[in-house]
Parts: sequence; structure tokens; C-alpha cells
Amino acid sequence: MTTRIDCFSVPAPDGPVNAWIVGDDEEVIVIDPGSDAAGLLDAVGDREVLAVICTHGHASHVAAALGVAERDEAPVALHPKDRSLWREAHPGEDADIPMEDGGAFEVADVRLEVIYAPGHTPGSVCLYCEDLGAVFTGHVMLADGPAPEDGEYPDFAEQLNAIGEYLLTLPADTRVLPGHGPETTIAMAEKQFDSWVAAGPVLGG
Ligand SMILES: [Zn+2]
Ligand SMILES: [Zn+2]
Repeated sequence: MTTRIDCFSVPAPDGPVNAWIVGDDEEVIVIDPGSDAAGLLDAVGDREVLAVICTHGHASHVAAALGVAERDEAPVALHPKDRSLWREAHPGEDADIPMEDGGAFEVADVRLEVIYAPGHTPGSVCLYCEDLGAVFTGHVMLADGPAPEDGEYPDFAEQLNAIGEYLLTLPADTRVLPGHGPETTIAMAEKQFDSWVAAGPVLGG
């Protein structure tokens, strides 16, 4: 299998964003482009961008979505429940593909499956690639737990529930590739989950 996953790190107010590039030498899908369209397209090179997928609508993750999509006239995918958040970064614009749970994308010889995982935002999704044994978790789950936004959790209980129901049920050796920071695995997350529940939605405590 020649399909690979590359990480392009983009500076952002909430810490460097992991923009993920999934594909082979011919074509790629970009997950969470961040805010640097030119830099990201440099990393893509002359490979065709088939789609730009936004795990959620927060600006530092989606700011470059239209810029990245434009070059190859690729569609942008977003869950409709994050439309109003997305519009803070892209006033008057809409994404092209309304994602829903169970939807799928194909790139090179792999499939990315949409897992609807609300809580961090109403329209948060993760992308699971069984073929590559990886799940892209955006802000749903980082290596050290559920991701907050601006120092708080919009809906901690729902976010934890999504992690428990939809992520920890994936195969234990699945790589977790988050929107910020280092990667982890489902097995590691499973070991930490109880401590995240016990800590509650209080940061720095
Ligand atoms: Zn972020
Ligand atoms: Zn976010």
C-alpha cells in the first residue's frame, strides 16, 4: 500500500494545528487545513486535492479550507451543525458537502468513514480509516483528553460520551491523529478515560 499520512503543522492561537494529508503520489484528501493555504498546498505539491474535510467549524482549523480547495476545485466537507461556526471564518460562504454519520470518502486505495461525534461543537466529526488503522479526531480527543475551546468545554458530558461510544469502541491499536499535539492510540486513550471523567470539565486542576 502506497497510501500515507502526512502531518503539516500550522501555527494557531490555540497551539499548532495538525493539518493531515492522506493520499498517495497522485491524489490526497486534506483534513483540517488550518490557516496557511499556501504552505499546505506546498506540502501537497502537484498531487490533486480531492476534498478538504473539516472535523469541525472552529476558525483556526478551517480558515484555509476554501483557499486549499480552490486550486483543484475540490469540495469542502463539513457537518451542517457547524455551519454557523464555519461562517465566523467564512462569512457568506458554505461548505459543499454536508457530512453525516456513516458517510465516506475515498482517496488512493483507502476509505475514510465519517463518525459523528458531537460535544466539542454540535457538528464535530472524526474520520476513521480502517485501511490505515488510524482515526482523525480533530478537537474531539487529543492525546491528553477531550479538547477544550478557549479554556472551556462547550459540552463536556456529550464530548466524553462521544469518545466513549464512538472512539474507544474502535480497534485498540488504532492510531489517534488529533487536531493538536502528539498522536496516541485507542488503547492508551482507554487507559486514561476514567481519569478524564474523574477530572471533569475543569482545566488546569
Ligand atoms: Zn484547535
Ligand atoms: Zn475546536
